[in-house]
Amino acid sequence: MAEVRLVRVWKQFGDFTAVKDLTLEVKDGEFLVLLGPSGCGKTTTLRMIAGLEEPTKGQIYIDDKLVADPGKGIFVPPKERDVAMVFQSYALYPHMTVYDNIAFPLKLRKVPKQEIDKRVREVAEMLGLTEFLHRKPRELSGGQRQRVALGRAIVRRPKVFLMDEPLSNLDAKLRVKMRAELKKLQRQLGVTTIYVTHDQVEAMTMGDRIAVMNAGELQQIGTPEDVYERPANTFVAGFIGSPPTNFMDSSVVEDENGVWADFGEFRLKFLDDQAEVLREKNLVGKEVIFGIRPEDIYDALFAQVKIPGENMARAFVEIVENLGGEKIVHLSAGDINFTAKFPAESRVVEGQEIDVVFDMKKAHVFEKGSGKAVF
Ligand code: ATP
Repeated sequence: MAEVRLVRVWKQFGDFTAVKDLTLEVKDGEFLVLLGPSGCGKTTTLRMIAGLEEPTKGQIYIDDKLVADPGKGIFVPPKERDVAMVFQSYALYPHMTVYDNIAFPLKLRKVPKQEIDKRVREVAEMLGLTEFLHRKPRELSGGQRQRVALGRAIVRRPKVFLMDEPLSNLDAKLRVKMRAELKKLQRQLGVTTIYVTHDQVEAMTMGDRIAVMNAGELQQIGTPEDVYERPANTFVAGFIGSPPTNFMDSSVVEDENGVWADFGEFRLKFLDDQAEVLREKNLVGKEVIFGIRPEDIYDALFAQVKIPGENMARAFVEIVENLGGEKIVHLSAGDINFTAKFPAESRVVEGQEIDVVFDMKKAHVFEKGSGKAVF
């Protein structure tokens, strides 16, 4: 088992900066997810940890051993890093049986035959592959193939697993099942795992912590609760959650009744502690971005705490998307558009005017321009 540490790591491809000044610490036994949109530098980061790519600047440590530091001319090759990588494409050998595919990394390392047999069977048992050991990859389903790829990584007993979107070739149903299986397996083995995905649901359900990246830069690292409930900026707030957080231009105003988010058409009263922060940061009288998740806007008919004139607005129902278990409701108030997630029992219909309640406890304010979270 091992810790992985990146210190001020950069990766340039010519003029292009794929990874920018990345500092990251993965704890022993932790499941860390690298999450971000396509092209944000996740795979490049993983490849640098694996030793498939050399950083341009910075240091990478695996278990306190410096494995890459271009400044000192240090670069430990992949073979000597004791990490196992699982790819999206599985990369199985088509002409070999499942048994031989799993055994392959051990054969390469000249492990005695008896030991190989014991370990392959152990891993096959763990992954439910015992009855398929004599099949070829083409005779397996996608999920079974993915398990073989995992088996091949596990059998080596590496210090670190590096996984690059390993579930993305599976259909939606199987992905959900494999998600849970993989998480369980990782817990059971306790091997430090770095898992790359652009799928926020995968990140939220699997990660002990999530590192959110955008355009080569780390945006936030924290537990799933942290990044969901306390996003560091508008990027994280917008990337995590579905449908995404509503962002509404607003000005902060104060009168004798308190501090308000003013939207022109309506206004919402900040809670006392929020008002305090806004005053402290000199944001009263300023333009900000008000953020709130769709699930934190309620149909007033079902809302617990409604305070007319403080946390409510009259809105026009533009579109209702019925997802069975819930309804996604697109609303407008003047020229302000926002989305709410209502329970299935809600009877809203398109073209109707309704009262909605904003759960101000869950409201966020971001600085205009930088997008940095105030709260
Ligand atoms: P995806 O989810 O699409 O794989 P990613 O976040 O993993 O995206 P990377 O594969 O790390 O992104 O790529 C980051 C950026 O670096 C991309 O813009 C990519 O085009 C660029 N890049 C990656 N490898 C190279 C390379 N060998 N030469 C030039 N540019 C590269």
